[in-house]
This record gives sequence, structure tokens and C-alpha cells, in this order.
Amino acid sequence: MTDPVQIAEQLAGPFAERAASHDADAAFPAADVGDLRASGLLGLLVPEALGGMGGGFADYTRVAQALARGAGASALVFNMHASVTGALATIGEELARELGATDAFFAHRDRVLAAAADGALYGVAITERGAGSRLSALRTTYEAVDGGYRLRGRKSTCSGAGHLDAYLLAARAHDGAPSSPAVGQAGEEPLVSHFLVPGDAVTDVDDTWDPLGMRATASNGFSIDAVVPDEALLGGVEGLAVLLAYVLPQWLVASYAAVYVGVAQAALAEAVAYVERRGAAGAHASIGDVGWVRARLGRADAQVEAARLVLEEAGRLVDIAPGDPATNRQVYRSKLLAGDAAQEVAASATEACGLGALRRGEPLERLLRDARSGAVMPPSSDLCADVLGTAALGRDPVHGTDTRPW
Ligand SMILES: Cc1cc2nc3c(=O)[nH]c(=O)nc-3n(C[C@H](O)[C@H](O)[C@H](O)COP(=O)(O)OP(=O)(O)OC[C@H]3O[C@@H](n4cnc5c(N)ncnc54)[C@H](O)[C@@H]3O)c2cc1C
Repeated sequence: MTDPVQIAEQLAGPFAERAASHDADAAFPAADVGDLRASGLLGLLVPEALGGMGGGFADYTRVAQALARGAGASALVFNMHASVTGALATIGEELARELGATDAFFAHRDRVLAAAADGALYGVAITERGAGSRLSALRTTYEAVDGGYRLRGRKSTCSGAGHLDAYLLAARAHDGAPSSPAVGQAGEEPLVSHFLVPGDAVTDVDDTWDPLGMRATASNGFSIDAVVPDEALLGGVEGLAVLLAYVLPQWLVASYAAVYVGVAQAALAEAVAYVERRGAAGAHASIGDVGWVRARLGRADAQVEAARLVLEEAGRLVDIAPGDPATNRQVYRSKLLAGDAAQEVAASATEACGLGALRRGEPLERLLRDARSGAVMPPSSDLCADVLGTAALGRDPVHGTDTRPW
């Protein structure tokens, strides 16, 4: 197998060339996704037996960083796809069967994964107006009907909406009661489940996405009122969504970290390139001769590398000990540090470079805006810090405070 990181590094060049125009239009990066499809990277996390590359979480983090060095928004679209394929590929068969997953679920899962290796693109649809990505506050509902489950509601923010072959969509039980095997406790916690919804089931995709940064994710909203077959229920078990978010947070938490470490790396590289080509105003010396400009680059270098190393360790731990409390703490650390590093490095780099780097269309100007989104993506940096602080106090990170991340 060709090294997937090398493939991603080759794609990053064309991604970077197209990034400015995708950003200007807040347009879905169709050409970048076409490259991902042709390269086979959409099958990165699909087992080799199903036609994929058989990669693990650590492979994902390196590939996503490389893509994000080219275009952060396209790397985020890839991140959503990887969250779906990675989560599906790592569902433990024995445990899932014990919980109630059927042969039909596994056959459906394998078809979905094989299609990804063939170029199908997936996304994640959790966020709703008023609830954010807090799973327990969602209003989109599902209920058992003849032939499967009926899903009804509206999602406000979904990267690639309208361009996806399927969505991993979160919804709560219509009347709070399970209609099939379930985990979670109705009454105390709303019963929230994930469904794999085909692309043609979503309607009314809006065209309102016009944010500060990560504009080319085209994260528009859509409506759903459709019946999906039984096997579309993730894991074949109701109520898995909140449980999995707590127990195995990597695909909901640290996958973003890889993208924002890549954005931080790109901001540093752009700052270095800018400093090297720009002479000091009115002088022949380079601004690289200014001590505090070099010091800002130096601090950025240390911060980017620290965030990368924490992410690298999270990737290693996820692959050898998924769900372990120490692994999960590292996952939260990596999300927090990546979000902080991206925005602090981009802000400091633009200050070192000056107005020229802040002009519309300059790569650093886009990177500064893209970097700002890292801390608000779920769980927000403040929430990650709260989880870590709770754990540092020796309390249960989930039940030890009034704050529930999901
Ligand atoms: C570029 C981009 C792409 C995105 N793509 C997708 C996508 O593909 N699919 C998708 O589902 N969503 C997507 N989102 C939405 C993203 O998940 C939301 O930004 C996120 O859900 C947070 O919602 P919010 O920004 O409305 O903030 P809120 O969740 O309303 O947060 C606002 C404030 O409340 C705090 N807060 C948040 N949660 C809690 C809590 N549990 N307890 C206490 N305080 C809390 C936060 O720290 C923050 O200070 C995307 C967002 C961006 C920026």
C-alpha cells in the first residue's frame, strides 16, 4: 500500500491552490473531494477485506494534518467522513452482538464501508439550533414504524449537506421509550441514537452558511422526514449515541484536533514564507532580522509541535487502549491544545507579519479565520478544559460536575 500520509501530502498542494476561491464562495470543495475519491483516501479507515486501506486512528490523525496543511475546510469534510467510517469500522462485533446487533446490521455496515472505499462520502448530522451538538438536548426524533424507523426534524449545521452519499444522524426517541434492544436509561437520560441515512432522504438543504472561517465546509442545514430500515440504526441498538460519546470519544473529539494541528502548522509555514519574502518597510533588511518577529515564530514552533505530540500520543493510545480513562483524557487534551494552538499561532503570526498578511486573499488571513473555529467545535475548548479539570480533581469526568459535555 502506498503510504496514505504521502498521498495526503501530494493532495495538499492542489488543495492550497484552490482554497482561496472555495473560501471566497463558501462553496463545497468538490474538486478536493474528487481528489480524495480518486486517491482512495475515502477508504483510509475501511478494512482491507472490504477494499479499504485498513488504517487506524493514528493514521487518520497524520493524514488529516497533512490535508489541513493544504486546506483546513476540506480536511474538516474529510474529518466528518472519517468519523463515520472510523466509528463503523471499530464497532466491536462481540459486544455489539451481545447488545442486540443483528446479521442485517453487520451486512449493512459492511456495505456502507465498502462503498466508502469505492468513493462514497459521508458526513455527520448532530447539531441543531438551540441544542448545539449536545446529544441529550436534540429535538429531531425517531420512532419505530413498519419497515424501520421514521426520522423527523431539522439539522442546522452539517458539513457537506446536499453533497453527501449518507449522513450519520443523531435523533432522540419520539416518546422516550425504546422500541427495540436499548442501552441508556429512559427517564434519566433521553434515549439518543445514531442512524445511517441515505443522501436522498434529506430535503430543504438551505444555503445560509456564511461564517467567519472554515467557509468551504458548506455546513448548511436540512430537514428530514423519512423512514430508514432497521439496519440503519447504528450498532443495532437504541441509545448508543450518548454512551459512545462518553466511552469512546475519539471520533467525536480528537478527530477535530488533527485538523486544527494541521491548520496551526500551515499558519506557521505561511508566516515563515511571508517573513522570508518581505523586506522591512523602508529598509533592505528582512523582517526576519527583527528579534521579536523571530521570537514569535519560535514560540509558534514550540506550540505547534507540543500540540502535535499530544495528538500523536492520543492516536497511539486510541489504537492500543480505546476507551481507557487515560486514553480519553489524552483525547480531550489533544482537542483542547489543538484549538488553542491554531488560534494563538495564527493570531501571533499575523501580528509578526503585519497588515500585508491580513489583506483579504492572503493565506494567513484565511488561516486566521479558519483557526478561530477550532475552539468552538465540539466539545468546546472550555468544555474540554472542564472535563480535564474535573478529572484532575479526582472526580468522575462525566458525573463529577453539573456540566454534561454531551
Ligand atoms: C466549520 C464548522 C463545521 C461544522 N460541521 C458540523 C457538522 O458537520 N455536523 C454537525 O453536527 N455540526 C457541525 N458543526 C457545528 C458544531 O458542532 C457546533 O459549532 C457545535 O455543535 C457547537 O454549537 P454552537 O456553536 O451553536 O455553540 P453552543 O453549543 O451553543 O455553545 C455556546 C457556549 O456554550 C458552551 N457549551 C457548549 N456545550 C455545553 C454544555 N454541554 N454544557 C455547558 N456549556 C456548554 C460552549 O462552551 C460555549 O461557550 C460545525 C461547526 C463549524 C464551526
